[in-house]
Amino acid sequence: MKLILLGAPGAGKGTQAEKICEAYNIPTISTGNILRAALKSGSEIGLKAKSYMESGALVPDEVLIEIIKDRLAEDDCQNGFILDGFPRTIPQAEALDNMGVEIDKCLNIEVADESIVKRMSGRRVCESCGASYHVMYKKPSKDGICDSCGGTLVQRKDDEESTVLARLVNYHKQTEPLKDYYEKQSKLVSVDGEGSVEEITEAVLKALEA
Ligand code: AMP
Repeated sequence: MKLILLGAPGAGKGTQAEKICEAYNIPTISTGNILRAALKSGSEIGLKAKSYMESGALVPDEVLIEIIKDRLAEDDCQNGFILDGFPRTIPQAEALDNMGVEIDKCLNIEVADESIVKRMSGRRVCESCGASYHVMYKKPSKDGICDSCGGTLVQRKDDEESTVLARLVNYHKQTEPLKDYYEKQSKLVSVDGEGSVEEITEAVLKALEA
């Protein structure tokens, strides 16, 4: 299964990717997590990406295309993968096609902007492994501590409201046209992303089996 997860920031792509990863035993490649790790380590890519990420803008296509090319060449991707946060522009999708990567499905998780803004204020992510939680909808067993790796849960800088609004504008302008792109390739499947995590997971797994 070679899968793309599409949806606004905060639509639940990361959370559903964890469930799909368990069900299909394939790795999740989150470009946001890769960029945050690069930023933390102070690498050249991290330095390039910093100002874009902090303002809620997209990092330039050529940086992301290089990251994905390298990551998909690794051994664990040979039986499939879940792309969480890539492609986010038409040129990125075209680059993926030009690499000869045959995507099976593009799963679109649809959530209204108003719900996104509400959700993002409660989102917390693990500083170490990037797993995501929510103060109301997806609580960890121990407050502030990641269930998977014991890391500390923090609020992302770009989850502050003004940045979320900028990210939503960019999503509608630059990323949403990908729905059409994959619809034309008959690969688009959409699920309603409003409801409990369990309800959405059920809809997601059903959509992937179809
Ligand atoms: P995410 O964790 O997926 O919401 O990504 C966080 C931030 O990383 C985004 O707001 C962008 O600044 C950057 N980013 C992640 N993936 C991409 C991508 N495919 N293209 C451009 N920028 C990206």
